[in-house]
Amino acid sequence: MPDLNIGELNPPERLLMGPGPANVAPRVLQALSAPLLGHLDPAFIEIMDETVAELRQVFQTSNQFTIPISGTGSAGMEASLCNLLEPGDTIVIGVSGYFGGRMTEMVSRYGARSVLVEAEWGHTLDPEQFKAALEREKDVKIVALVHAETSTGVLQPVEEIAKLAHDHGALFLIDVVTSLGGIDVRVDEWGIDACFSGTQKCLGAPPGLAPLTLGPRAVEVLRSRKTPVANWYLDLTLLDKYWGEHKNQSRAYHHTAPISMVYSLREALRTIAEEGLEERFARHHRNASALRAGFETLGLQMLVPDAYRTDSLTTVLIPEGLDDLTIRRALLSEFSIEIGGGLGPLAGKVWRVGLMGYTSQPRNVFALLNALEQLLPAHGFEVPRGTAAAAAHVVLTA
Ligand SMILES: *Cc1c(COP(=O)(O)O)cnc(C)c1O
Repeated sequence: MPDLNIGELNPPERLLMGPGPANVAPRVLQALSAPLLGHLDPAFIEIMDETVAELRQVFQTSNQFTIPISGTGSAGMEASLCNLLEPGDTIVIGVSGYFGGRMTEMVSRYGARSVLVEAEWGHTLDPEQFKAALEREKDVKIVALVHAETSTGVLQPVEEIAKLAHDHGALFLIDVVTSLGGIDVRVDEWGIDACFSGTQKCLGAPPGLAPLTLGPRAVEVLRSRKTPVANWYLDLTLLDKYWGEHKNQSRAYHHTAPISMVYSLREALRTIAEEGLEERFARHHRNASALRAGFETLGLQMLVPDAYRTDSLTTVLIPEGLDDLTIRRALLSEFSIEIGGGLGPLAGKVWRVGLMGYTSQPRNVFALLNALEQLLPAHGFEVPRGTAAAAAHVVLTA
């Protein structure tokens, strides 16, 4: 008989400064251990309603249809696409990084056709190209893109493209996985018809839920489908019967809600409400500015120009002569700090450093800069001290 005794769970404490998951506040972790309720218990339904109400605040929307999907950010992406598209539909997708590419993968599995508007990784998408695609294609159902592209660190301006989509009768759908809760996302004001996020990035909870919201136009498209949604688990018409508040109708079981994850999302949303959205965005900006100033003083260059950088994730070019994996491994083993490597064409060329949610704190900026000040010279890359430059961006009490 093999020994089945695997010992007590004891994961190391990491500083999670990669592309997600980010660290989670102790009170959010604590919420995970609250007593379980049944998924139709009136006490749980009240918790669901509170959670959804807070989600609307973070999405800055009054959309009735706002729910957390069971699953990670990709489940939110898949739910948006499989519910709003039918076989033969055309969707225009902006692709300038890894996650835009993932959308096209999903679209093809639901029998819809993707028309790509592309930009080089690390660049923004050009609204003119969306306009051209919309004029050329005539019957476009959705225009979709990634707000903050986690593979490149680019923040895509969206308002102009939203307007173009509407002018051509298309829905505007965006991925706000790496922006919601850390970067301004104004669903109603910007005319976003559908968007989805994930709990483990700027929202400050563990991975496991994908908040999603649909505006009235998207709900209308969903209600007037000719074919059933091809994915039963993510069918929003069914999920709405459980999550949605409908007069004189009781909640219908669809699948067992991940009770503990809902608790922890609720607690994370409570911390956001306490901090206030404006202050939260300002905090993400301050700490990202501090990090970049520190990096630049260390002699490291950013991939993305200032105007289009997302504060949730910074991509920094790996200097000539330094080995990507060697440095990341040393950061993890010697400093217990995780940062991300590059994806696709950026593999081996950039590091991806996240400052999301609870991780976005001055002490973490300093921890990473300090670690690099020790590590980089040890691997042959001499650096001046970067922490002083970072300190100029955050208030240190004397
Ligand atoms: C992380 C991420 C996803 C995928 O989310 P998972 O939680 O890994 O499924 C999708 N889009 C963007 C922009 C992301 O950063």
